[in-house]
Amino acid sequence: MKYYSLNRKAPKVSYRTAVINGIAPDGGLYFPEHLPVLPKSFINKLDRYSSVEIGMEAMAPFVHKDIPKKELESILEKVLDFDFPLVPIDAHISTLELFHGPTMAFKDVGARFMALSLGYFNRNEEKEITVLVATSGDTGGAVANGFLGVKGVNVVILYPDGKVSDIQERQLTTLGQNIKALRVQGTFDDCQRMVKKAFADKTLKGSVQLTSANSINVARWLPQMLYYMLAYHQKKKPAGELVFSVPSGNFGNICAGMVAQKMGLPISHFIAATNVNDTVPRFMNTSEYDPHPSTATISNAMDVGDPSNFVRILELHKNDFKSLKQNLSSYSFTDKETKEAMKKIYSESKYITDPHGAVGYLGLKKYLESHPDRKGIFLETAHPVKFLDVVSETLHTDIPLPPQIEKVMNKNKISLPISTYDELKEFLLT
Ligand SMILES: *Cc1c(COP(=O)(O)O)cnc(C)c1O
Repeated sequence: MKYYSLNRKAPKVSYRTAVINGIAPDGGLYFPEHLPVLPKSFINKLDRYSSVEIGMEAMAPFVHKDIPKKELESILEKVLDFDFPLVPIDAHISTLELFHGPTMAFKDVGARFMALSLGYFNRNEEKEITVLVATSGDTGGAVANGFLGVKGVNVVILYPDGKVSDIQERQLTTLGQNIKALRVQGTFDDCQRMVKKAFADKTLKGSVQLTSANSINVARWLPQMLYYMLAYHQKKKPAGELVFSVPSGNFGNICAGMVAQKMGLPISHFIAATNVNDTVPRFMNTSEYDPHPSTATISNAMDVGDPSNFVRILELHKNDFKSLKQNLSSYSFTDKETKEAMKKIYSESKYITDPHGAVGYLGLKKYLESHPDRKGIFLETAHPVKFLDVVSETLHTDIPLPPQIEKVMNKNKISLPISTYDELKEFLLT
């Protein structure tokens, strides 16, 4: 499998090069040259295969030749070592819980797959790779955990001091080993600016091999297609045609679902549910792509004004607005509506959603109003405990700490304060 750049001015590359580069030299996102169609006999019997067998069938064509089958199998065993339960909410709606991984964020699967891919590629190299990542909260924890102990790879995480939750900060700063956390006196945008500057810094390039770990990397993006396949793998799957509602920020997760659909998974429609950062819902109404700066909300992992993976969704639909419109609906919701949905789900079904999952629920509800014969699944992308303040204040209930979170609560937070790019550069050089 080769990958081409969506800007079409850079050469096609292998999986290995696409993962190491992150982004193509012409600034474009990498996209697979073709999408294999899985045999019907396999798709129709997903419930008979194990999650690793499904992962092998789906992912092998995308990493072909660069990662041998035996190695891929051992990577998938580590990536998929937790459950993705499907929980019924009412007669038409179920939720697929993606938060049972080591950091309780759905990003665990992609982050771990990318970490183990890079670790494999770098296994015989003398030179270490440094993964540099800026986080506003969830990404950093999943990336740090995914790369923990991976040989030949160092991780440097920048986060805005005082602007991530206590649990999130603990997940970033208590790991040790090859994970270093820098707390930046500034905002998330300042962190991101420093990271971008480092990637463009020619004097750094000579001495440090830098790579990024955000969702534009194909190794983080593509494995997310497995969530959708694993929904069909469950015995309790609702009968009939299914629609998926995906709480969306950078639109990587939903785009991976569309890849699964193109590979043969019978998904009849997608709903991209957003908070007030509504660039895509507006696009679906007007066909004009007009990004706005992001606004802070209670579903902060989706506070994205210019979703980086949306170009991949356009490419999947051959840039044809009509065919996209047939496959995708997109709605945006306010924080007030999100809290009301959390209350409604809790009082009617005794189910606790986090704010992101609640946005997904709202999107599905809205779509089903005009399609009452359909059944759907919304993705629950984070454990409610990750957004403890909002959840307990809205639902007036306590959530017991799961073991993954309990584990980091008594450890010492270790991070280095920095405030300028020069301090970052000095840190990377020493
Ligand atoms: C990252 C994230 C999202 C958004 O996923 P995208 O792939 O960026 O659309 C939604 N919910 C949570 C909890 C997240 O961490």
